[in-house]
Amino acid sequence: MTPVTGDSNYAPSTTTDPTRRLAARAIDVVREYGAGDNRVRALDGLSIDLFASRFTAIMGASGSGKSTFLHCLAGLDQATSGTILLGETDLGRLGETSLTATRRDRIGFVFQDGNLLPHLTAGENIDLSASLAGRRPDRAWRSELVERLGISDRLRHLPAELSGGQRQRVAVARALLGRPDLIAADEPTGALDSASGNSLLELLRSCVEDYGQTVVMVTHDPVAAAVTDEVILLRDGRAAGTLRAPTHDTVLEHVGALAVRPGVTA
Ligand code: ADP
Ligand code: MG
Repeated sequence: MTPVTGDSNYAPSTTTDPTRRLAARAIDVVREYGAGDNRVRALDGLSIDLFASRFTAIMGASGSGKSTFLHCLAGLDQATSGTILLGETDLGRLGETSLTATRRDRIGFVFQDGNLLPHLTAGENIDLSASLAGRRPDRAWRSELVERLGISDRLRHLPAELSGGQRQRVAVARALLGRPDLIAADEPTGALDSASGNSLLELLRSCVEDYGQTVVMVTHDPVAAAVTDEVILLRDGRAAGTLRAPTHDTVLEHVGALAVRPGVTA
């Protein structure tokens, strides 16, 4: 990709800054699916640094490996080779029990489609991780979350009785309830109107500003990306550049170079 002239915030690759603490790192990660003629290399030697207490956006064309990266980062999928570090923890070296505990205690994941359990109500879905871990959720935080997400009157409904946007917001509440160190969200504003999208972005921003959590969000939306501290661009399963202090215009410029159509969901 060609850097835009005079754009000092653009770096052609992710760079390590020793003065900032890393929340997570992907080092030379390869993820292949299938075999033989059907083999697909979703991640092709991807290296990314995610700084702690930062809001990072991941952008790239459909099929560039964004969801695969997020799943590997969160220990939901396993890299074919390479290393994923969560803080000091090498996810590839954890046994199934420790990996499950790490996912539950340190990571909040927002799936693109919500991924709610269909036979549980919205409220039960939100409390699920805490229930499984035998913990009582922080009631005040739970009330604030559902209030800010605008779903407090939907908590007794089953997922099938909710709109796509409401399901997405329930998934966000579920991911944020335990105040995990790392929040990974795959297109969390994809099904939201702009008002609920904005309040969700404000909520994610406040997780970073007020609680020092680390947020990584896949998005196609330049408006959402402009709320973050840094945009990492993916192309063909590799990091293709980093945009610091992104604005709507600089995002459009660089994302245009990756042939991403804003508003199109991958
Ligand atoms: P993005 O989220 O950027 O649109 P993905 O990470 O979903 O991209 O996919 C990257 C590539 O890997 C695509 O070519 C996709 O078809 C392929 N891929 C993703 N998941 C699987 C899977 N489970 N099996 C086979 N191919 C997959
Ligand atoms: Mg995706």
